[in-house]
Amino acid sequence: MKKSFLFLGTGSSMGTPVPTCHCAICRSSHPFNQRLRPAGLLKLGEKRFLIDAGPDFRQQALKLGVERLDGVLLTHTHYDHVAGLDDLRVYYFLHHKQLPCLLSKTSYDDLKQRFPYFFQKSEDDVMGGARFQFQLIKNDTGEEEFEGERLQVMTYEQGGMKVTGYRLGSFAYVVDLKLFTPDIYDTLKGVDVLVMSALRYRPSPAHLNMDEAVEFARKVGARQTWFSHISHEIDHEETNKQLPPGIQLAYDGLEINLC
Ligand SMILES: [Zn+2]
Ligand SMILES: [Zn+2]
Repeated sequence: MKKSFLFLGTGSSMGTPVPTCHCAICRSSHPFNQRLRPAGLLKLGEKRFLIDAGPDFRQQALKLGVERLDGVLLTHTHYDHVAGLDDLRVYYFLHHKQLPCLLSKTSYDDLKQRFPYFFQKSEDDVMGGARFQFQLIKNDTGEEEFEGERLQVMTYEQGGMKVTGYRLGSFAYVVDLKLFTPDIYDTLKGVDVLVMSALRYRPSPAHLNMDEAVEFARKVGARQTWFSHISHEIDHEETNKQLPPGIQLAYDGLEINLC
């Protein structure tokens, strides 16, 4: 079975360029310095799992051809990760079935505040927005069955919000990482391809910066580590030259084969 991961967006919460910013990177014409909000598409044979649906989802789906979806994995409910959930209703109309969505109890409770109409029972499909079949993650750390796949979940924190990381076989997606317990390294042991966030060089209260992310990546020791959730302070070519072997910045539209 062919497996791959497609980066739909590798930007941080504001994307790059940032409206109103005229820094060198925001003015850069290099395509890899144009970053939509963070999301990814996991392709497992014919199956398609979306990881997060931010405010750029519609544009990403059009640009990169997200023609079908079999499920959604949510990391957490900050705007840059969930603002596009309503746009997923096109898949509800396409497949005529609720879209399975895996998420933590914390995310579920927060979605009820952000999108109350997702939870209103209605006989009329058109009024209900995107229709989901929510599956709550049982434990902060451990295995989870989702749509025929066995996933491992990790829970860590970002600015007081719980965030979920996912591992599927030798692939892991761990973004918006700031506070974590050392057992995360146990869950990530043996990962071949790691996608993680690395915001910028300066320290951030909500994210690992480049140095912290490199240190984390080294401890995990994946064959390939791809940084995502990258701010407008980072120039793609310049930073890539400085990163250690095996660690690189991802870019929108990059697709990695998974074994
Ligand atoms: Zn984020
Ligand atoms: Zn800028």
